[in-house]
Amino acid sequence: MRSSPPPATLSAAAGSDVAAHGPLDWRTLVGWLREDGVIAPAEAERTVARCASAHSAQHPLQRLSVVGMARAQDGQLLDIETLTQWLAGRCGLNYLRIDPLKVDVGKVADVMSAAYAERHKVLPVQVSPAEVVVATAEPFIRDWVPEVERQTRKSVRLVLASPVDISRYTAEFFALAKSVRAANKGSGQGGFGSFEQLVELGKSNKQLDANDQGVVQVVDWLWQYAFDQRASDIHLEPRREQGVIRFRIDGVLHPVYQMPVGVMNAMIARIKLLGRMDVVERRRPQDGRIKTLRPGQKADEVEMRLSTLPTAFGEKMVMRIFDPDATVKDLSALGFSAHDAQRWESLTRRPHGIVLVTGPTGSGKTTTLYATLKRLATEEVNVSTVEDPIEMIEPAFNQVQVQPHLDLDFAQGLRALMRQDPDIIMVGEIRDLPTAEMAVQAALTGHLVFTSLHTNDAPSAVMRLLELGIPPYLINATVLGVLAQRLVRTLCPACRTREDEAAAGASRAALAELVKPWQVSGGYRPFQPVGCVDCRMTGYRGRMGLYELLVVTEGFKDKVSREPRLDVLRRQAVVDGMRPLRLAGAARVAEGLTTLDEVLASTPPVN
Ligand SMILES: [Zn+2]
Repeated sequence: MRSSPPPATLSAAAGSDVAAHGPLDWRTLVGWLREDGVIAPAEAERTVARCASAHSAQHPLQRLSVVGMARAQDGQLLDIETLTQWLAGRCGLNYLRIDPLKVDVGKVADVMSAAYAERHKVLPVQVSPAEVVVATAEPFIRDWVPEVERQTRKSVRLVLASPVDISRYTAEFFALAKSVRAANKGSGQGGFGSFEQLVELGKSNKQLDANDQGVVQVVDWLWQYAFDQRASDIHLEPRREQGVIRFRIDGVLHPVYQMPVGVMNAMIARIKLLGRMDVVERRRPQDGRIKTLRPGQKADEVEMRLSTLPTAFGEKMVMRIFDPDATVKDLSALGFSAHDAQRWESLTRRPHGIVLVTGPTGSGKTTTLYATLKRLATEEVNVSTVEDPIEMIEPAFNQVQVQPHLDLDFAQGLRALMRQDPDIIMVGEIRDLPTAEMAVQAALTGHLVFTSLHTNDAPSAVMRLLELGIPPYLINATVLGVLAQRLVRTLCPACRTREDEAAAGASRAALAELVKPWQVSGGYRPFQPVGCVDCRMTGYRGRMGLYELLVVTEGFKDKVSREPRLDVLRRQAVVDGMRPLRLAGAARVAEGLTTLDEVLASTPPVN
């Protein structure tokens, strides 16, 4: 649908004497809802009575969503999205739920001014060489269309979106575009040249604030936006023409925004300043940390780890955001089954020995270790860690950062810690024999040691220790258990749908085949991903852990000392109660929390 007037079929289809022009009004909408059988006649009468009794300046769609109409078909309350979607169908427009990550804010803000967008209650959401897609909640007001088409020399395509989203994002997008423009101006034609000078002169936070409000606002916006979108990492990447901002959300990178390189350099400089990094040094990698407040109901502190890297097109920055709730999560929130939670709990309450957590990078090992240590860290015990890097500062722990250039590696850090009267020790990772030997030594002298290894599954961790050169008798004397883990994305609760009978039958058979000779016990309620704006159309929202827990028993020790072969160790671990990773995943599929695709992509085959 171009800028043409509403199709002639509309009023016929509506079967109504209400002319389809001018602003929407709630009476017309109620009439249409009733005609379309969306609501029952009695519900229509009730709604008319309620709305007629009070005046409201709200958009009619919003107003009707607030009074709470029940859908005739299933009694479900009609929310604003459902109503908007229905109206789109009725007036022959495409429905759009605005996804802020998909909107190129810089481009859309060039289409019209903020005042114009607000006056006409429309928001450009997409700009291509020939076309501008504009979201509206007033499908029958189109007198502005020719003007925009003339100004932009592009044709306008209308889509229908919720009036609430349109007003919210209009404010947000235009404010952001304005800040970027201001920052761009402030950074001068030559980019960051003048900016660096400014920093050198002042070298103080205050000076920068006073002189470049645009940069300050863009940085504030960036963090707020990242927190809103549940991002775990923010990437600021200079490219040849433009600076690109990307967010990692649930393990996947999403492009968010493009901006002039000069503005991005100014942003990076400001963030470096806040992170107490050397702002002028741009040719060598640097690390830093920032704590900032996340506004909201409970304004909590968010910690970010910063790192910069010189690249071909300039300095790149990555900010890792640490979830302040991460360390307090209990085991079931991390994804432990009841079976494994209980076994893990008893393992971590032992007085001394080594507990290993394994998995590839990004499998959530650190989160599990922090959550576990946090539960153990009482006033009566000394919990100390050697880490590379320290991912999260935890006041209850004594944390040491590995610094190879100062000859402080894992083994040396651990040796130093041992003189500090520790009870519980966490060694970030065992990478070599000296570290493994120190960990064994610490366990033998009465300490509980947590550490991680890079292996595919739990039994392989024992093989890895043997390869490093730890003899079987020392493994048996110290290792209490091994937890292998993976992260899978969880289905978005807002849009996931039940698999129909036929699909469920097929997927059940596929699942059974994959976990053979195991069986998935309990019910089977598989869901499939759909995609909505809550999950940025991915169908997934959030992640959960899958776990495989090997508890070392006398039987297992016997196999280690006599026949350290992987298949033999694995079989014994299973006899002792270990459930393989893929089986843990299959159980989550059966519960409708994730999908077979996710589990297949992240877990090794059974056996
Ligand atoms: Zn969704």
